[in-house]
Amino acid sequence: MRREHPAYPPLTRLGTVSGGAVLAAVLLVVLAVAPAGAGGGDTFRKATARSVRAHEEARRHVDRLRAADAAPTRIKAAERRRKALRAALWGRLWTAAKASGDPVAVDPGGHAGGCSARDRDRSRPPRRPLAWTAPTRDYWLSAGYADRGAHWAHRHTGQDFAVPTGSPVLAVGPGTVHVTTCGDGFGRQVIVHHPDGYFTQYAHLSRIDVRPGRRVVAGQRLGLSGATGNVTGPHLHFEVRVTPYMGSSVSPLPWLRRKAVKVTD
Ligand SMILES: [Zn+2]
Repeated sequence: MRREHPAYPPLTRLGTVSGGAVLAAVLLVVLAVAPAGAGGGDTFRKATARSVRAHEEARRHVDRLRAADAAPTRIKAAERRRKALRAALWGRLWTAAKASGDPVAVDPGGHAGGCSARDRDRSRPPRRPLAWTAPTRDYWLSAGYADRGAHWAHRHTGQDFAVPTGSPVLAVGPGTVHVTTCGDGFGRQVIVHHPDGYFTQYAHLSRIDVRPGRRVVAGQRLGLSGATGNVTGPHLHFEVRVTPYMGSSVSPLPWLRRKAVKVTD
């Protein structure tokens, strides 16, 4: 179930993102603790984790204001701040992902069909619409989020669902297929962009059934589970991210619980 998730190589240089003064201010904070040379990867990771937490707190703040029926101008300002945090995080991670050869950054258009003749667009929405759902069925939960293991350079960035190869892998909610790639430690993977801004990742698939740009609904099959990439056995690696890139994951089971999805063994 383990031995996966390529770590970023130490970054020797950090890119910047375009944007206004707000972004620049956010970046200054981040760059103040950014790595200057080899061995700075950990610093970069920690700074990224702080950025992810800041974004999550900004999101909760917007939710609280909405729940309290706050003045529209206050909600708008809070939402602007959240978006600025996310844009800064997105830009930094895109630069890092590109430098590390992450196929999600290198092939932003995705290349389903280029990976294998078995990967084609053949998914159909379920006959009966579903609410948000777990990403597969008849699983048991193996490695959890933030678990530490001998095989990972750092903490585990997703939740593993142990299922036999060939099990249907389902979009947890409505969204658009952002990218599909086949070339790295995640093996064949699909990343879906949801309307609330979050991304979900489904990795180590044996087959991909959707193409980038394809709109999907909750419960729609994205492909079949497998053991591609760096794994020691078949399972689905499921991740929830603030951006499409590695490093921006949030705890997936609480995120699913907020969508009324219960995930238990
Ligand atoms: Zn995993």
